[in-house]
Amino acid sequence: MPNPLHLYDNYERRLRAFAPLHPGGDVGLYTCGPTVYDYQHIGNFRTFLFEDVLRRVLEWNGYRVRHVMNITDVGHLTSDADEGEDKMEKGARRTGKSAWEIARIYTDDFLADLKRLNIESPTVLCRATDHIQEQIDFIVDIERNGYAYRTPDGIYFDTAKQPDYGHLARLDVKGLEAGKRVELGAKRHITDFALWKLSPEGGQRQMEWDSPWGKGFPGWHIECSAMAQKYLGDFFDIHCGGEDHISVHHTNEIAQTEARVGTRLANFWMHGYFLLLNDAKMAKSAGEFLRVQSLVERGYDPLAYRYLCLTGHYRGQLNFTWDALDAAATALDRLRHGAYALRDAPAGATDATLVERFGNQINDDLNLPRALAVAWETLRGELPAGVKRTTLLHFDAVLGLGLAAWVPRVESAPADVQALADARVLARKAKNWAEADRLRGLLNAAGWEMEDRADGYALKKRAPAGT
Ligand code: AMP
Ligand code: ZN
Repeated sequence: MPNPLHLYDNYERRLRAFAPLHPGGDVGLYTCGPTVYDYQHIGNFRTFLFEDVLRRVLEWNGYRVRHVMNITDVGHLTSDADEGEDKMEKGARRTGKSAWEIARIYTDDFLADLKRLNIESPTVLCRATDHIQEQIDFIVDIERNGYAYRTPDGIYFDTAKQPDYGHLARLDVKGLEAGKRVELGAKRHITDFALWKLSPEGGQRQMEWDSPWGKGFPGWHIECSAMAQKYLGDFFDIHCGGEDHISVHHTNEIAQTEARVGTRLANFWMHGYFLLLNDAKMAKSAGEFLRVQSLVERGYDPLAYRYLCLTGHYRGQLNFTWDALDAAATALDRLRHGAYALRDAPAGATDATLVERFGNQINDDLNLPRALAVAWETLRGELPAGVKRTTLLHFDAVLGLGLAAWVPRVESAPADVQALADARVLARKAKNWAEADRLRGLLNAAGWEMEDRADGYALKKRAPAGT
């Protein structure tokens, strides 16, 4: 039996044994979804891949997971600290389309990329704009409990009302107050944040709704508190997002939920660390970024990127390089060919020792780099082929590399290779075995494998060296 699952909880800043809040029930998992004003870049997908692996590890441990992910289609301002304009309205201007249209376009693109990366679909996918009433109800309760105040441009959360505000990020609130340089506007404290923003006087936004405070739109943080609570309850198992969410977005989700129902929303708070490009954060707002499509256009299988992400622990940043992606693509190819070569072996059981070692790694706060090494040992070891294959496929439930379904792509061979194959068919017909063998040797040297079939032959690219 593998060791019990331990996960690193950023709220308590320690590794904790995971125990579900409702034994026998579903594990509740909320992951902050994309802001759909533009395409998601591969940095964003590093976080979604970490969350997918987390979900698969929970499932591997026998839990059923209720996974809720939001789509942020309103309210996320260009600065996380409630300044600037709504990213959706800005995206609409950039593209010449409506905010509603771009939300649909980029949501569809995001969902297609999830599939390309073999990320399991969330149990519930919820749009912020479909939950305006829930957000208004939430703010009404916060206001009634005395944690909100009005300003000329909206309703704000009064962070000074909570002595433990900022615990998740270990925020030095006093230090922030003392060193503040930004314009506070009508905000009372630097850490206060918008719950509801009013539409500008005389102006009209594309996305706006009536509310008890006037026409406007919800703040970004309230959507996640409201939808998480609606679909998972007042206190659920795990809440995730990228590391940038620790100090503002998740800190504020916790503040709001404490103000409404007195809980910190989730039992575990987990964060995926950034993908860097040239040692700087890959960011949409920085203009240049790589999409899954950018990788496909350069001839990479999206799962090579998934493999690359598995080679780094989620709690460390990962610097993206094309060389690293190349290495991941080669390794994935070898693993696939290795698993494929075992396909006709008689069925075997999983190997208990390897399963235990793999389980120990994934249960040690998702140590996928080490778990991957166990998968390689399995492939290269001395076990019967059927046992190897069953064990590898069992691991792939967590790795998500699609090993069971993979088959080599049928490639059309170049004319000279085809000519060698045709010549070999004639040699075989003439029972000239020495010549047939010589021609096979030439084909192999050219990097091709020839399979004789009743109806002719098939040509396949040879597995790369090292499998
Ligand atoms: P957004 O679309 O900006 O709301 O971000 C979607 C998810 O991607 C969030 O969980 C972010 O924290 C995460 N994220 C943003 N940039 C990166 C990056 N460079 N590397 C990893 N995760 C990121
Ligand atoms: Zn969120």
